[in-house]
Amino acid sequence: MKQGKKLLLPAMMLLIFEAVAVALWLAKDNIFYLFNFSYIGISISLGIFLFIMKYKHARRVVQLLVGLYMLVYLGFIKGENMQIEGFWYYLFTGVFEAATIHYAVAKIFGPLIFGRGWCGYACWTAMVLDFLPYKVPAGPRRKLGWIRYVVFALSLIFVAALFLAKAGNIERIMFRAFVIGNIIYYAAGIAAAFIFKDNRAFCKYFCPVTVFLKPASYFSLFRVKCNKTKCIDCGRCKKVCPMDVDVTDNSRKRKNGTECILCLECVKNCPKDAL
Ligand code: SF4
Ligand code: SF4
Ligand code: SF4
Repeated sequence: MKQGKKLLLPAMMLLIFEAVAVALWLAKDNIFYLFNFSYIGISISLGIFLFIMKYKHARRVVQLLVGLYMLVYLGFIKGENMQIEGFWYYLFTGVFEAATIHYAVAKIFGPLIFGRGWCGYACWTAMVLDFLPYKVPAGPRRKLGWIRYVVFALSLIFVAALFLAKAGNIERIMFRAFVIGNIIYYAAGIAAAFIFKDNRAFCKYFCPVTVFLKPASYFSLFRVKCNKTKCIDCGRCKKVCPMDVDVTDNSRKRKNGTECILCLECVKNCPKDAL
């Protein structure tokens, strides 16, 4: 690939994020949005560039840059609850800020364009889970996906109960919920990875955010597709997929299609460059 072409995709991604950054900065009259989305855009563009340059840890670099920024800076330092409870909280207060904007961009409307890119490159829970030893699931998928709906409902009930009970200092409660919620997510995620021998077991069965992510990503513009004329049906792509996606089927209804996190492991491992 020529030098100019190598820069085209990262540059396009940076431009998209800069457009969002400037639009939100002007609309909300808050320079934080310029900084926030510029930083995320630069991180993602850098990751794409490193991927094009065939650096094998490119995705990890983005996960750490974005994940740590959101967890440590936005979460612990700025006190923003960017978890699903924070989204409900801001939604109930009618404030279109932080968590609501984050959910709108990354998890509700964004997946119509970039699918579950959030899960592959930015989530601070998966940032840790992906370091565990079971990068490829050791066994078949279990029928436990219903648990995510229970967790989703519980998160909504928890925040609704705080409002209904007219709890004092909800801001402080939400910060504590963020800290405790993250501890629970990490503990459950690590335990699930070892029990199911699958780093992404938490994502497959427990994560409530997938209730938003899965339907939107069904319509995703960016998808990994298979060139049937090149494919030799070797099955390598399915073996290396952490999310059990049948990536050789190009239909939107392909098995576990809404689970694809765009990690591109299948692309990297295809011997025929068919993906
Ligand atoms: S499924 Fe949930 S925990 Fe897993 S990467 Fe996506 S948002 Fe993070
Ligand atoms: S790895 Fe490539 S060649 Fe093998 S089945 Fe998958 S798409 Fe086809
Ligand atoms: S390996 Fe391919 S199909 Fe599986 S999640 Fe990653 S990008 Fe999607």
